[in-house]
Amino acid sequence: MTQTKAGIRIENLHLSFGETKVLEGIDMVIEPGEFFAFLGPSGSGKSTLLRAIAGFGPTPRGRILIGDRDIVNLPPWKRNVGMVFQSYALWPHMSVRRNVAFGLEERRMPTSKIAPKVEAALETVGLLHLADRMPGQLSGGQQQRVALARTIAIEPQVLLLDEPLSNLDAALRVQMRRELLALQRKLGLTTIFVTHDQEEANTTSDRMAVLDMGVIQQIGTPQQLYDHPVNSFVAGFLGTAN
Ligand code: ADP
Ligand code: MG
Repeated sequence: MTQTKAGIRIENLHLSFGETKVLEGIDMVIEPGEFFAFLGPSGSGKSTLLRAIAGFGPTPRGRILIGDRDIVNLPPWKRNVGMVFQSYALWPHMSVRRNVAFGLEERRMPTSKIAPKVEAALETVGLLHLADRMPGQLSGGQQQRVALARTIAIEPQVLLLDEPLSNLDAALRVQMRRELLALQRKLGLTTIFVTHDQEEANTTSDRMAVLDMGVIQQIGTPQQLYDHPVNSFVAGFLGTAN
C-alpha cells in the first residue's frame, strides 16, 4: 500500500499571523523515504510548519514541493500528505473501523474499495482485532495507533507527525517510538516528526533540524548536531557541552 516515494523541498517559506512572524525563511530538503525530526522549544513554529505543509491555516509565502509538485496553493486533500496530531482526535461515536474509513469516504472512494484498505491499515498497526471497538474502549496507545491507521489508509506520500507520542506515558512512548520507526521503514514514507524530546529525535531520525523563532538553526544527523552545534542556541538546546 505504498506510493512512489517523494521528497520534500521547502524554499524561502514565510508565514505570519497578522503582525506576528512565525516562519521566517525556511529552506530545507527532505529526501524520499527519510525520517526527519524537527526539534525546537515551544512556540518556535514547529506545528505551524507542519500545518503549512498539510494545507491548514494561512497560505504561506514561498514554495513547498512534494516530488516536483508545488503544493502551496492546493487544498489539503490534494496534497498526498497525512498528518497525525498530539491529540488523537478520533470520532468518539464511531467504531475504530469507521474512524479509519472516514478519510476515505471523504475522498469519495467507492465503498467496495474502502473496506480492504481499512483492514490493511489496521493490520499494519496491529489493531485489526479491535476494529469494532469504540475509541473510548481503547488505551491511549491504541487510540494513537488508530489515528496512525487512519492516516496511512489514505496512502499519503508524506507523513507528518506532530508530537504524536506526547500524551503517552514514558514506557509506552519508548515502545511506540520503535513501532513508529518500524512502520515508517516498512512503508518507506517520507516522514517529518516534530518533537520537543531530543532523545526521541536522536533515536529515530536520519537527520534533524533545530528550529528557533521560525528560523532553522541547524540541520544534520543527530551525531553532527551533538558533536558540532553551530551556535550557542543549538548547543544549549541539545545540552551539549560547548
Ligand atoms: P510550536 O509547535 O513550535 O510550539 P506553533 O507553531 O504552535 O509552535 O506556534 C508558533 C507561534 O505562532 C506561537 O507564537 C503561536 O502563538 C503562534 N500561533 C500559532 N497558531 C496561531 C494562530 N492560529 N493565530 C495566531 N498565532 C498563532
Ligand atoms: Mg506544536
